[in-house]
Amino acid sequence: MSSARKPEWLKMRPPSGREFADIRETLRERNLHTVCEEANCPNLGECWSGGDGTGDGDGGTATFMLMGDRCSRGCNFCDVETGGMEPLDPDEPANVAEAVAEIGLDYVVLTSVDRDDLPDQGAGHFAETIREIKARHPGILVEVLIPDFQGEERLVRKIIDADPDVIAHNVETVERLQFPVRDRRAGYDQSLGVLEQVERESDIYTKTSIMLGHGEYDHEVYQTLADCRERGVDIVTLGQYLQPSRSHLEVRRYDHPDKYETWRRVAEDELGFLYCASGPMVRSSYKAGELFVDAVLR
Ligand code: SF4
Ligand code: SF4
Repeated sequence: MSSARKPEWLKMRPPSGREFADIRETLRERNLHTVCEEANCPNLGECWSGGDGTGDGDGGTATFMLMGDRCSRGCNFCDVETGGMEPLDPDEPANVAEAVAEIGLDYVVLTSVDRDDLPDQGAGHFAETIREIKARHPGILVEVLIPDFQGEERLVRKIIDADPDVIAHNVETVERLQFPVRDRRAGYDQSLGVLEQVERESDIYTKTSIMLGHGEYDHEVYQTLADCRERGVDIVTLGQYLQPSRSHLEVRRYDHPDKYETWRRVAEDELGFLYCASGPMVRSSYKAGELFVDAVLR
């Protein structure tokens, strides 16, 4: 298959306004990184607006990237650099917590690179950041998008014990395409196992995300959604894969927004997900606070 041409509905609108500038300044001062900015996320203007720090979900979601900007893995869809891992910054958990307070977010998403190089693969650092944020701002909702921790249950349990509100782990794509899309150390069953463990051992909401555009068939997408539901996953997001550079996997197909709406209905009405955010521009954390509060807490 050859690479597909990018359609009109994927044109990005640059973020602007005072709120955006203020948040960016706070992040610079504290030397913190968000996926929102580093991935040049098209939803930045929507996600960063309207938060007042009360956890009422009227807006204000940002995704912080923990443990550096280099990953021990190399997925073929991802723009993060591989290798050359740096030691962890012990001040990062407190710094993130303070920045979250200063910005006045309602809902924070924490994610990280994979740290297969560390004895606990970074699970302890992740858990400490959750605790720092919850200690300073009991009202805030915390979602974590975690690595698979190579399927080690004791490491996933460290995250569960820190008691975030949502634990997300992405299956990323259908079973057949796990490789070449993901690093060889990742895998479909391993990822489903992480989600299943969270469901089995806690009342924490679970979430996963699937990219479309890698050449998957509809029946495979349906099967992936069904497999996730079977493990008890509560929330799912679907979005269009965009090629970060020519050295990454080519986009095989762009689906029309109507198709995404069909998947949303299938996920929510037929399979029973609490909610499904589905659209070409949707990313795992797209308006995560607003949607979570609307669909789950109200
Ligand atoms: Fe990117 Fe995550 Fe894969 Fe690392 S594990 S290369 S951060 S998608
Ligand atoms: Fe940030 Fe996620 Fe929103 Fe993009 S979708 S702006 S990464 S919170």
